[in-house]
Amino acid sequence: MDNKRKHKEIQFTKLMKVDSYNGPRFLTLKRTDQDETMKTVSPFFIRKAMNNITLNVTIVRTKDGGLLLKTVDRQQAEKLKKQNVFGGIINIEITEQPTLNSSRGTIFCPDLKMHTDEEILDELSSQHVTDVKRVHRRNKKGDFEDSGVFILTFDLGHLPNSIDAGFHCCKIKQYIPPPLRCMNCLKFGHKRSVCKGNQICASCANLYHDKTQCQQGLKCVVCRGDHHTLSKDCPVYKDKLEIQRIKVTEKITYREARQKRRLQAPDPNPPRLRQPFSSLFKSQHNEADQQKNNEMTNRSNEDHIASTEPTHTDARSFGGTSQSAEFIIIKQQSVATEGVRGSIGGAESASTLVPCISGA
Ligand SMILES: [Zn+2]
Ligand SMILES: [Zn+2]
Ligand SMILES: [Zn+2]
Repeated sequence: MDNKRKHKEIQFTKLMKVDSYNGPRFLTLKRTDQDETMKTVSPFFIRKAMNNITLNVTIVRTKDGGLLLKTVDRQQAEKLKKQNVFGGIINIEITEQPTLNSSRGTIFCPDLKMHTDEEILDELSSQHVTDVKRVHRRNKKGDFEDSGVFILTFDLGHLPNSIDAGFHCCKIKQYIPPPLRCMNCLKFGHKRSVCKGNQICASCANLYHDKTQCQQGLKCVVCRGDHHTLSKDCPVYKDKLEIQRIKVTEKITYREARQKRRLQAPDPNPPRLRQPFSSLFKSQHNEADQQKNNEMTNRSNEDHIASTEPTHTDARSFGGTSQSAEFIIIKQQSVATEGVRGSIGGAESASTLVPCISGA
């Protein structure tokens, strides 16, 4: 078979996959009776009532007192969505689960740059596309321009392999959203709009200043390594991106994805609270007491620390290896880590931070 024909056949089978896709749909079932949930309803009753409507639906209880339903296909989902009474006595509402029935992928198709996002959506909607967003990139002059990459949202639980855009057959890649990063203090886990910290220079990790004045060498705000904070080589960025990838591809929560990631690789920026419990006993009694005191001070001063970070950064930039400098860095690390906040490590954790100080 010549290559051209082979390519066409592959395209055809891939497109068939998009058009004939009719996989499982996820629905949520909620009671509409005031102040009532499904928590108190017997599993036997639920199964029988469901089987009276349709068979082979997978049912899971959700934390909010509802039920998550996995149907065999779209037709079954449509049938269930029309139900408003369950088992003849319970008033219910069945709706599409908001995240499990959609997927996002990217295509590279510079030929589509001539169209608006709305026009592209209009053309691709017959292939289950529900949203189109174009990706911009900076050119050499520093201006933003179309990259030719488009992020497509599909009304499908599984991403198709390719999509037909006019006479183009575009390969679809899984879209991994970048980790949430504040563009003010440059740390992960929150947006600029809620940031309580100061604006930081991404090059030298000091208080934000004019670009021409940045002559202090590269330093990452997050991991203290000698690279630009926005570098894709930052070990913390790479780790967070990997968590995002697990979250998206396995359709699980961020917390679950992080747990899975920790089975593969240690946290490159570990919060002090997650230290092995046994390590606490290695320190002397007075150190343990000191640590306890520090923890309490740090908790109460968390906001204060965030607002006075630049002063600490300045202290660090003088290359201090004194105890106070170490203490400052530990405090900053614990503030920087997302999720778990406000604890200070013992002797062992302080020693792990020494390379950061010497790198200042
Ligand atoms: Zn921030
Ligand atoms: Zn700078
Ligand atoms: Zn870094």
